[in-house]
Amino acid sequence: MRITILGAGAMGSLFGGLLAEQGHEVELLDVNAVHITRVQQEGLMLDTDAKGRRVVRVPITRPEAAEGRPECLVVFTKTLHTSNALAAALGALRPDTLVLTLQNGLGNVETLARFVAPSRIAVGVTTVPADLVAPGHVHSHGEGHVRMMMSDGSHCDRLLALAQALTNAGLSTTVDPSVQAAIWEKVAFNAALNTVCAVANCTVGDVGSAPPARALAHRIASEVLAVAAADGVRVDEPGLHGMLDHALEHHLAHKPSMLQDLLAGRQTEIDAINGEVLRAASRLGIPTPCTEALDALVRLRQGLVPSAGSSCY
Ligand code: NAD
Repeated sequence: MRITILGAGAMGSLFGGLLAEQGHEVELLDVNAVHITRVQQEGLMLDTDAKGRRVVRVPITRPEAAEGRPECLVVFTKTLHTSNALAAALGALRPDTLVLTLQNGLGNVETLARFVAPSRIAVGVTTVPADLVAPGHVHSHGEGHVRMMMSDGSHCDRLLALAQALTNAGLSTTVDPSVQAAIWEKVAFNAALNTVCAVANCTVGDVGSAPPARALAHRIASEVLAVAAADGVRVDEPGLHGMLDHALEHHLAHKPSMLQDLLAGRQTEIDAINGEVLRAASRLGIPTPCTEALDALVRLRQGLVPSAGSSCY
């Protein structure tokens, strides 16, 4: 398949690199000049559990210079950069390019729908982990899965083909009509752990070993899931609290991405996580006091970071 990845940081480089290894025609698009130059000159170094460390040759350029004409475009910028990135890459798309977002948070389809018809948009969620440890060098250790569907619920052969291509590349993927529940559950998980760690500047293990902080995380998750349920989404509340407990007991040294963003002087995805939940809560009349408090505190810290911008290494 001809596949373009918009936003070739940790996730975009991993997905693009693994697809390129399988022989697909992949083009990576990013704005991080150091990363672009490193991948152009030395190739993309992938380090995964399945195959260890190796270099993959894959074209990379800025969005406005894209060769394009892809069958599928996968959006992997942070949510706050989606509009700028897509506006720059739009001219390189075909009239029928399938546009897939696997970004965290809510509201991603609505953002894409400002640029392309909803019938061309697919949405999903992934638990595959990735870190850009240096320019041109991505690590992925641990297990994960991708679930996705067409945003309008329609059947799409191209989405099925993309799912097969991802699975063959080692990224286990299913087309799943209940993906909205999985998206909300991940938002609840992120709202609970990312915000508390970001505000307290601590690891997941620190939250797990402090009973009041642990209770706060569970309370935020319950608030978010109550909003999802009021919106008609069938979420698995006991399952989500079990996942939270598992993370609190096992991911002891993990610093969630929201904390990493603040520490690196970058804007966070708070608006796509707590911000979207609060807008839905207000529309549906669901009280969300803890989610709202953490939203305010993360935005306060974010406003204080010395220089906020896109990822830069
Ligand atoms: P990242 O910051 O590593 O990568 C984002 C990339 O987008 C950066 O390289 C940045 O330079 C690029 N970018 C910014 N503005 C751009 C523009 N205008 N045009 C093109 N590129 C632009 O982020 P990530 O960790 O890869 O996460 C991407 C998305 O996937 C986020 O929504 C995140 O929440 C989600 N996610 C991440 C993980 C993970 O383990 N990293 C797991 C699941 C979901």
